[in-house]
Amino acid sequence: MQDKFGRTIDYMRISITDRCNLRCVYCMAEEQQQFLPESELLTIEEWERLCQGAAQAGIRKIRITGGEPLMRPDVVSLVHKISQIPNIEKVVMTSNGVGLAKVAKKLKLAGLAGVNISIDSLERESYCRLTGRDVLAEALEGLSACGSVGLPVKVNCVPVVGENEAALWQLAELAEQYPIEVRFIEMMPLGEGAKFQPIANDKILQQFQERYGDFVQQEPDKKDGPAIYYQNDAFCGSIGLISPMSHSFCHQCNRIRVTADGKLKLCLHHPADLDLRALLRAGNQAEQIKTILQEAVQQKPKDGHSTDESRPMWRIGG
Ligand code: SAM
Ligand code: SF4
Repeated sequence: MQDKFGRTIDYMRISITDRCNLRCVYCMAEEQQQFLPESELLTIEEWERLCQGAAQAGIRKIRITGGEPLMRPDVVSLVHKISQIPNIEKVVMTSNGVGLAKVAKKLKLAGLAGVNISIDSLERESYCRLTGRDVLAEALEGLSACGSVGLPVKVNCVPVVGENEAALWQLAELAEQYPIEVRFIEMMPLGEGAKFQPIANDKILQQFQERYGDFVQQEPDKKDGPAIYYQNDAFCGSIGLISPMSHSFCHQCNRIRVTADGKLKLCLHHPADLDLRALLRAGNQAEQIKTILQEAVQQKPKDGHSTDESRPMWRIGG
């Protein structure tokens, strides 16, 4: 699919639930949240039909996210169904890793090609303060289980002023010791995130250079999305910087999103939603969904700067 700015759209991120077992300070407030009733979440069959239509329209990679996707008991079947769809080349997931150890092997067998695990700190206390739950050990268990079953992982971290800022080098050490990518994502002013100041990734890179010596920027690979990777001679893995606040990457955006209640989001920062759930429940088949998506993509905004989405990531699907 090409949009009217000539961008090829071949990547779809689907939020399969809005529920989460953590309460990250910049994402989901601790007070009682209003989650969607089960009946408003798309069923496996609806996700399958939607992804079939998306594949026919030109989507090649699907990321399963949330909320926390592992909160959905049918997540393994969902991965299996989606990975069987013709033309879907890659199904990946973003997860906080808690509970992943139990299902890593099943997910791999179901066809999952990789997991991005969000771990904002390797210090138990600051992890606990940032996520509201004392479960760092379980998240790390999930990370190491992926290694054991051969599921490729990347680690995601959102630096938070005054919280994990001083200990980011510990996360960088993961990339020093293991062949994995550790990525730092600038805080975006979505939902609770608006309460925090982003830390510019340039500053983080500078700190790493002071500690470890020069990092060389790798040749950008469009398939890697907006992350820019850096390598240091002493590192087995690499450091990735995702900098939506300090360096816009809208001009090369290749993605669309679908929220847990089946709304199409053409841009993370754009509030306009097309109700795909209603269209699926009205009986539209993959062929019709294909046409609907191809037409909708023409409305994808040039960039997200002039828009005013205020929903948090757990509602949109990060
Ligand atoms: N629960 C899963 C997880 O945490 O990986 C998947 C959903 S979560 C919304 C996806 C990613 O969005 C996480 O890496 C999280 O750190 C990031 N995120 C959430 N709110 C954010 C914000 N305001 N700015 C930047 N990243 C954010
Ligand atoms: Fe849950 Fe992920 Fe949001 Fe943290 S970032 S509250 S783990 S959805």
